[in-house]
Amino acid sequence: MTECNKEIHLAFPQGPCFGVKRSIEICEKLLKKHDAVYCIHPLVHNEVVMQDLQKQGLILEPHLENIPDNCWVILSAHGTSKDVVAELKNKGCHIVDAVCPLVLFVHKKAKETVISAGKVNIVGDPKHQEVVALLSDLPNDSYILAGENGKAIDPRFPTVFQSTTDPRVLQDLRNEGFSVVDTICFATKGRQKALDELIENCDALVVLGSSTSANTKHLAIKAQEAHKKVLLTLDLLQIEQFVQKISCVGIIAGASTPLYVVYDAYDRIVSAYEKICDYRSS
Ligand code: SF4
Repeated sequence: MTECNKEIHLAFPQGPCFGVKRSIEICEKLLKKHDAVYCIHPLVHNEVVMQDLQKQGLILEPHLENIPDNCWVILSAHGTSKDVVAELKNKGCHIVDAVCPLVLFVHKKAKETVISAGKVNIVGDPKHQEVVALLSDLPNDSYILAGENGKAIDPRFPTVFQSTTDPRVLQDLRNEGFSVVDTICFATKGRQKALDELIENCDALVVLGSSTSANTKHLAIKAQEAHKKVLLTLDLLQIEQFVQKISCVGIIAGASTPLYVVYDAYDRIVSAYEKICDYRSS
């Protein structure tokens, strides 16, 4: 009989972070009270969650001109630009803000830094909704966009970080002696720490989440940099195919991935491994 050693490691923590849970709860309560609720940006960056909310009646409409006057609108967990909010108010919309308080903490620290130091470096993805909304909240010419890796900071000014920045970027700047304001959220830090353990113990990693999710993307990039095989997905079939030639796999999920997706992925890998081992022993 051939020996069949297979291992599955689950990261801890799993399940949606506090900010995502809060936004979903606010949205679901709203959907119970109103027939139509609109959002302009995905409430959270996870297709499974969005499909579920859309089934409950949430309407994703990215074009402001298509948002009806006086309707209900929920603002995303990542924040919304001031000009968009102003336009919604002009249309008489009822606005419910589901932004994560830890995203607002980044705004607060950036504004404080501008007041105390004159300017602020922003580390983050300029195309990401969180950074777009943050910049709209700061005076013109008061910030320096330093990219996701922080390479373009102006060393004369302190640096704040998109909430989902890879903590290594902050640590590198700190080690180089630059002034940093730690605005990376605990959900991001916790998942990054869990990833370190999986990298140590596994040959390959399944990263459950969306490629549009910044914290999920950073998990996958770090694992790739550690020369691990990585699959970033929410698709169970892809996971089943991915693990066929892997003996020791780790499962980690982004901060907006529901717990049931993690359990489904785990079950799918267990049954794939059972099939492989039954075949080898027969
Ligand atoms: S990842 Fe962090 S900032 Fe984003 S919603 Fe979760 S707790 Fe808030």
